[in-house]
Amino acid sequence: MLNDSRSHGLWERTAPEAPHTVVLQHADKRDVAIIGGGYTGLSAALHLAEAGVNVGVLEAVEIGFGASGRNVGLVNAGLWMKPEDVKSTFGEPFGERVLDVLGNGPAEVWSLIDKYAIDCDAVRNGTLHCAVGKAGIIEITERARQWEKRGAPVRLLNAEETAARVGTTAYAGSLLDSRAGTIQPLSYVRGLARAAISAGARVYTSSGVTAAERSNGKWTVLTAGGSVQADWIVVATDAYTKTPWKEIRHQQVLLPYFNVATRPLPDTLRKTILPNREGCWDTKKLLSSFRLDREGRLIMGSIGALRGTGATTHQAWATRSLRKLFPQIGEVELEAAWYGMIGTTSDHLPRFHYLAPNVVSICGYNGRGISPGTVFGRVLAEHILGKTRDAELPLPVTAPETMTLRTLKENYYEAGAELAHFVDARF
Ligand SMILES: Cc1cc2nc3c(=O)[nH]c(=O)nc-3n(C[C@H](O)[C@H](O)[C@H](O)COP(=O)(O)OP(=O)(O)OC[C@H]3O[C@@H](n4cnc5c(N)ncnc54)[C@H](O)[C@@H]3O)c2cc1C
Repeated sequence: MLNDSRSHGLWERTAPEAPHTVVLQHADKRDVAIIGGGYTGLSAALHLAEAGVNVGVLEAVEIGFGASGRNVGLVNAGLWMKPEDVKSTFGEPFGERVLDVLGNGPAEVWSLIDKYAIDCDAVRNGTLHCAVGKAGIIEITERARQWEKRGAPVRLLNAEETAARVGTTAYAGSLLDSRAGTIQPLSYVRGLARAAISAGARVYTSSGVTAAERSNGKWTVLTAGGSVQADWIVVATDAYTKTPWKEIRHQQVLLPYFNVATRPLPDTLRKTILPNREGCWDTKKLLSSFRLDREGRLIMGSIGALRGTGATTHQAWATRSLRKLFPQIGEVELEAAWYGMIGTTSDHLPRFHYLAPNVVSICGYNGRGISPGTVFGRVLAEHILGKTRDAELPLPVTAPETMTLRTLKENYYEAGAELAHFVDARF
């Protein structure tokens, strides 16, 4: 997108075409205007359109331009935080509710993929949270205990079982979550857009909203070429927020995350490396993730931005790490490298906001937004449809907060990841 191979990388090269969309160039009228064409906005659009609501989506660039078209593609259950931490931070009744809906998150994603025949290379063979050393084992054992208590289909694997599934002896064990799996993320978001359009939604691209006005109980959102008048607005712009509700961006610290992809591995290697194609990530603080794509390319990711000197440093680190993890690969040749921004909140939990009367938003997924974005898009749709009142939502309604020292923290994370990968790649 935007002729930048580092924005969507491999995903842009291997996704089916986006559905046909147009630039907004007239004064349009809808029941609901949705700002942002990622998982949250398009899931909300799909569920509203299915219910017969006249809905228009306004996307500043292209469908999936934000994090939805750039991520690793791990379709996980729950949030980054352990279930009991989610419960204690949210308190009751929200903690229990959010764990219920997000525990079932991957099932909602699979069900939409089936219902609309979304062509997105979905692999439903689970994910493996790979333990590094003793500390890693303690971490995944506790996660397993908390999910098992909730009846979730998770299972601890020992070092030998992990090595057999992953193809490396680097890990002391892993936590298999059978609810989870992988998708081609850009294909999925394009598929959601196609489904929403087929259900009756209108999707405008290259139509960034620059302002919003309210008069006589109706909203009008303005773009360079036109406007949409609507009763409700959904702000689904998350970490890629521009105008007009910038407070969503101001409450998040952006954490860059990159991915690299090798050439397709030969069949002999594919028999040893992730033969079941689980999606993986590890327990390190500066975490790594890895998975295969449809053609057997190994995709490895970690924290960092591929800009300035970071582009060389992070790719050098990834090449070396791949060789260390999977010595059987031999020479590593990278075919693609790309990165995006993860929005993180102060307590690592997502937010539900009323930004103004009839203007709703859910954001702040903290790096886990495929299932949550899909689920919360539906939640937003049901709220607008009057099916859930504020007190019945899975998230508490809160006002946006302002993150202190945001820019400093963002620079620190970007520079810190680069330094750590620079050192790790050499010593
Ligand atoms: C590199 C990376 C790896 C990740 N890996 C995973 C993973 O493996 N699993 C997982 O579950 N999650 C992962 N995530 C998180 C996940 O991708 C996000 O949480 C999710 O995509 C957020 O979806 P969204 O629809 O809310 O926002 P986005 O997909 O970011 O969409 C927001 C859209 O709003 C548009 N926009 C902004 N301002 C305006 C405006 N004024 N007018 C119109 N449009 C506007 C943007 O152009 C953008 O397209 C990852 C994220 C990144 C960046």
